Amino acid sequence: MQEVDTLYEEVKAAMDRHELKVYYQPKYNALTNQLKGAEALVRWIKADGTMVMPGSFIPQLEQGKGIVELDWYMLNEVCAFLKEQADKGIHSVPVAVNFSRMHIYEEDYVERLCRTVDQYGVPHKLIEVEITESALVDQSDRIAEHISGIREAGFCVAIDDFGSGLSSLSFVKDIPVDVLKIDKSLLSRNCEDEKERIVLESIFNFAHRLKLTTVAEGVETREQLGFLRTCDCKLIQGFLFAKPMAEQDFMEICRNREEAEETEDILLTQAPSSATNLLLEAVFTRFPLVIFANLTRNSFYMMAYENFTSRTCPSTGVFDELIQHGASTMHPEDRELFRSTFTISNLMDAYNRGEKSVSVVTRQMGDDGVYRRVETTDYFVKNPSVDDVLVIALCQNLD
Ligand code: C2E
Ligand code: MG
Ligand code: MG
Repeated sequence: MQEVDTLYEEVKAAMDRHELKVYYQPKYNALTNQLKGAEALVRWIKADGTMVMPGSFIPQLEQGKGIVELDWYMLNEVCAFLKEQADKGIHSVPVAVNFSRMHIYEEDYVERLCRTVDQYGVPHKLIEVEITESALVDQSDRIAEHISGIREAGFCVAIDDFGSGLSSLSFVKDIPVDVLKIDKSLLSRNCEDEKERIVLESIFNFAHRLKLTTVAEGVETREQLGFLRTCDCKLIQGFLFAKPMAEQDFMEICRNREEAEETEDILLTQAPSSATNLLLEAVFTRFPLVIFANLTRNSFYMMAYENFTSRTCPSTGVFDELIQHGASTMHPEDRELFRSTFTISNLMDAYNRGEKSVSVVTRQMGDDGVYRRVETTDYFVKNPSVDDVLVIALCQNLD
């Protein structure tokens, strides 16, 4: 404890002497290479010019209250920098500031955050709060409240070092964040290992389905970048693009930044998963109800269900039961037609006759109590890896 106390005094004195400097590491759009943000990282530059890295004092400071003071110091420095840029007419990008888990216990954290940022007239959207993954373990209730407060005040919240620790995936579902930073320990140099790729693809997939912005940290090689693009990773932070740099160097980069907003053109978003997402979006726009069914297993999975009928529907389950449910939402005169068209035996007969699809038009009641014509079409699809008979059902309103 003696050592921690001494270190704390030393760091405090270093703050007073302004020896603690903010280094900025840029973040870039993975596909367009445009500057999109930065992370503020502390560097202790001693009077003799030696640079002390955070790894040699942050862990000790985290054992006491020193870290809390350091983080507020960093936020002040970042805000002063953003104000200076604004005064010079330079367009800033959002800057992420690391906040240790100790802030969870600060009663007036959000108030102090707002007060500090407002003092410099910096828009809240330019500050991102980074909280390390390990802070979230065993703290779900408290942290969820803490994070909601920060977001309600207009700041973005990022989970840092995701995948580095002991946490379970469930907190990502319970904790309302905006950004997921994937830890560098998950990336090998070449991303050649099949299992590693599967793990990363799954992380990006779930993050995107939860509408989180993804950032890959510690990207050093072109191979890593190539792979991350296929995962549709949004932002890249790593030595491949830029190392953390002093304030003036970062200001230069911001000054020279391409101002033009990128257009989201399909050629730029042709990575497999973004292409798939685009395609799905196009399908979902046209067909508000899309169901994937396995006739052989009598099961289904609802792929999209948006503003289609007033009755909610289970998202997975038994296909026969789905048809019963569907029929109950139809006009009484159409129910039998709907049921008999979509019995498994009728569909299997059609499939065996070589038909490509089965379609029917029925009347269905909408939210407003009015019946409208709806077309339901089951398309037979072939999956090379199974013999099961699969269908994709697309439903659309005709009126
Ligand atoms: P972090 O927040 O995960 O920051 C990213 C770290 O990865 C930085 O290390 C950065 O220099 C390093 N990095 C970035 N790109 C690459 C790369 O391509 N390859 C490799 N090998 N490393 C890369 P740094 O600056 O040494 O900071 C270490 C940790 O110290 C940070 O990890 C953060 O947890 C903590 N830290 C730094 N500044 C602060 C601060 O102001 N407050 C708090 N609470 N923690 C801080
Ligand atoms: Mg960080
Ligand atoms: Mg990190």
